[in-house]
Amino acid sequence: MKKSAIITGISGQDGPYLAKLLLEKNYNVFGILPRHSSPNIENLRFLGLENKIELITGDVTDENSMYRLIHSIRPDEFYNLAAQSFVGDSWELSKVTTNINAVGTLNILNAIRCNHQITRFYQASTSEMFGNSNLLKQNELTPFKPTSPYATSKLYAYWTTVNYRDSYNLYTSNGILFNHESPIRGKQFVTRKVTDAVAKIKLGLEKNIFLGNINSKRDWGFAGDYVEAMWLMLQQKKPDDFVIASGKQYSIKDLLKIAFTSVGINNWKNYVKIDGRFKRPSELHSLCGDSSKARKQLGWKPKTNFKKLIELMVREDIKRYKQHIISNDNRETVHFDKFKGFSKLSKITKAKKIS
Ligand code: NAP
Repeated sequence: MKKSAIITGISGQDGPYLAKLLLEKNYNVFGILPRHSSPNIENLRFLGLENKIELITGDVTDENSMYRLIHSIRPDEFYNLAAQSFVGDSWELSKVTTNINAVGTLNILNAIRCNHQITRFYQASTSEMFGNSNLLKQNELTPFKPTSPYATSKLYAYWTTVNYRDSYNLYTSNGILFNHESPIRGKQFVTRKVTDAVAKIKLGLEKNIFLGNINSKRDWGFAGDYVEAMWLMLQQKKPDDFVIASGKQYSIKDLLKIAFTSVGINNWKNYVKIDGRFKRPSELHSLCGDSSKARKQLGWKPKTNFKKLIELMVREDIKRYKQHIISNDNRETVHFDKFKGFSKLSKITKAKKIS
């Protein structure tokens, strides 16, 4: 019989990559979409999945919604990827962040406990929980020291996942994933912000990119590789928690250099403006993961290196703008900027001339 899986966060970055993997493995996939006036399925469309999974309106903050979901579908596996996942916004939206990331996880776990205890549960935990660790590399034994409301909310979800495993004997696992990116990463996140800006600068649509702290260092991988680890975690004999990381660290300066060089621009510093508005109340300076446990027990390892990943993201962003320019011809395109509000991409006609 076909296995069934529910994915929350289906419209985000990881949801579509995971859905694609599960469909290849012959699962029935149910994707949970929170209610919006127009459903957000752009990322599913990017991977050609919009008609291949069943989309259900649901919200992790609504206890009843999660209860009915588990009661009616009784899934073999449940992947909780739903989140307010942007660290920068979590100070302004601390309660919303906590409701979705922490209480949302509790709602799902209670729904599983009351309705279908054999459902295997994956929680999208994060390296942000480590905060500014004293250790050069972080693994499953590294103490947590969160530095943002995002990280504290995720820590609640992490411990609730562990606690429900111990208290109720449920199959619940945490994937402590380090940063992972792709061409469908949200544009607020620094990797995509950079690749999107580099594409626009190359096409003459923008002159500069505005960033906060460019000295931060992270451990970055490809989302398509990381969702494989999520699936592997739910195929083990026993539930457990795993760090998933590349083990290699790059700074935002390295990211800028790779992205600009990939389009033939070598003097990247000329295009980058440091903007105090992007600084955070508390900065997380450095993260680098040690995923030896996952490599040994799950047989997982990343396949895509950082340089190839960033080059792919830049290529895809350039492709998107070129298609957009052609399809919109001379029409003005509306563009949202966090600080300037809605504005017009007025240079679209000029950019048309660039091949
Ligand atoms: P993402 O692109 O921000 O996607 C988040 C998803 O959650 C979106 O589909 C969003 O739907 C959905 N969502 C938000 N509020 C919801 C609610 N109340 N009920 C149901 N769904 C809701 O995140 P991602 O990059 O795919 O990451 C997936 C998960 O892994 C997240 O939990 C994230 O915190 C965690 N994580 C990510 C990384 C990373 O580097 N990407 C690293 C570690 C952990 P709408 O778009 O419709 O609002």
